[in-house]
Amino acid sequence: MLKIGLTGGIGSGKSTVAKIFQTLGIPVFDADTVAKSIMNENAELKLKIQQQFGDATYKDDVLDRAYLANIVFKDPYQLAILNSLVHPATIQAAEDWFQKQSVPYVIKEAALLFESGTAGNLDEVIGVYAPLTVRLARVKKRDNADIEAIKNRMKNQIEEEMKMKLCDRIIYNNDSEAILPQVLQLHKYYLQKSQQHV
Ligand code: ATP
Repeated sequence: MLKIGLTGGIGSGKSTVAKIFQTLGIPVFDADTVAKSIMNENAELKLKIQQQFGDATYKDDVLDRAYLANIVFKDPYQLAILNSLVHPATIQAAEDWFQKQSVPYVIKEAALLFESGTAGNLDEVIGVYAPLTVRLARVKKRDNADIEAIKNRMKNQIEEEMKMKLCDRIIYNNDSEAILPQVLQLHKYYLQKSQQHV
């Protein structure tokens, strides 16, 4: 079974592309969603987060995301510590999930695929690319978010053009190129490639 990464910056369209793969019957591991849920479910991880960021991080056993975001998005050092706790637990969750799949190929969707150092365990990585202005406009509309807040989150990600150079395939998701034919072409390619894969 091939393991294919799917990455791209905030608002590039990863989830939109992932949904198309899912409709084609390809299972998708959504690393960002899993990372968020294990911060509330994995007892060992919860304890480490609480020890690092204080008792106020969990209120009635539920993560206070606003409190934690306020600490880590102001301080790259604290963010690096949080990532060093969450990433290994997410990688383990992905490995457990891979074991349960029996299809020609699976997709692992993650915004921080390269930043977390997990791209190396994958057979190929697809990058979803959209220009910065398009991404900002989409996220502003989707989340009703403030442009400065979005830009702040973007600062923690590798610059988009650089990220695309690290990818094996690129899906262009600007406003003028349709993504469906691009996904269909990749789907066909991975189905063929999986037959040669031992
Ligand atoms: P994040 O990293 O923030 O989760 P993402 O990369 O998963 O973002 P999406 O949520 O798929 O991005 O897309 C961002 C927003 O842009 C969504 O509201 C989505 O519906 C919209 N969008 C994505 N692609 C297109 C497109 N080609 N045309 C119009 N809107 C689009």
